Amino acid sequence: MKWKRGRSGDRNVIDIRGAKKGGASGGGGFGGMGGMSGGGLPIPSAKGKIGGFIGIVIVLIVIGTQVFGGSSGSGTGYDIGSILAGAGTVPGADNPSPIPASEDPDADLKDFSAYVFTDSQQVWRKAFRQDGQPWRDAQLVLYSGAVSTGGCGNATSAVGPFYCPADNRVYLDLSFYKDMKNQLGADGDFAWAYVIAHEMGHHVQNLGGIHDEVARARRQESESANEISVRNELQADCLAGVWASTVFNQLEPGDLDEAINASEAVGDDRLQSRGGGSVNPDSFTHGTSAQRHHWFQTGFESGDPEKCDTFSGDI
Ligand SMILES: [Zn+2]
Repeated sequence: MKWKRGRSGDRNVIDIRGAKKGGASGGGGFGGMGGMSGGGLPIPSAKGKIGGFIGIVIVLIVIGTQVFGGSSGSGTGYDIGSILAGAGTVPGADNPSPIPASEDPDADLKDFSAYVFTDSQQVWRKAFRQDGQPWRDAQLVLYSGAVSTGGCGNATSAVGPFYCPADNRVYLDLSFYKDMKNQLGADGDFAWAYVIAHEMGHHVQNLGGIHDEVARARRQESESANEISVRNELQADCLAGVWASTVFNQLEPGDLDEAINASEAVGDDRLQSRGGGSVNPDSFTHGTSAQRHHWFQTGFESGDPEKCDTFSGDI
């Protein structure tokens, strides 16, 4: 992907990797990202109809209410199975003492992450404003090893990247990039971009009211809680695809394959087989490789959030 450096300083990017917490493992050792240098950067242009998104959000809420019913409440973060419910705060919420770029082995990865995060945020912010809907900025927290969130409890990097709806923050340990490459076979800058865009998709869902409905449904429908979770995750994949369509002009050969490969690599069936166990669809929370591939591609090809209705019909 062609991209431009220099967004690490965005005020919504919070780097607390230098703030040592107990048990922090550190994400060092990643030796730069060849081929990801900046270059002529075309202005991203949405080829789809993102402006119509709010309509689909409302439709989904209605569907959710009909299907799931119930009262409101908050839930835990997305993509995290093991985070304890409980309050906490991000230490030094205002960039305590970021590692100087010259001493940061992950400086390139940080800069690229900040670029994708900021770009996707701009795309969605614009879409919401065009629809006259209120937007609230998300923040990207780069941590190392372990982190306390503002309402989703504590987490270690073992849970992977996640979004906390209570504090509107995406949490990333940059070491996950290495894990994706070495353990999941998902390599490439656009694989990483897909991960970040997926988490931003959860923020869009949160602002659109999807999160509350999903949390409510999970509590009330214990039998179908996993299916609700899968539908929710597939929508985030689809929204990631919609964002990817807006950077179409910046894509390089192989980029799309990298994202699709990554979406398949994190399918529940693939992960369960890799874990050595049998594949148990009832325990899926994110969807199969085929489903994740399908919904990312649906978002990418349509560029239209309205096509991201994963809550009705077959998935
Ligand atoms: Zn997710």
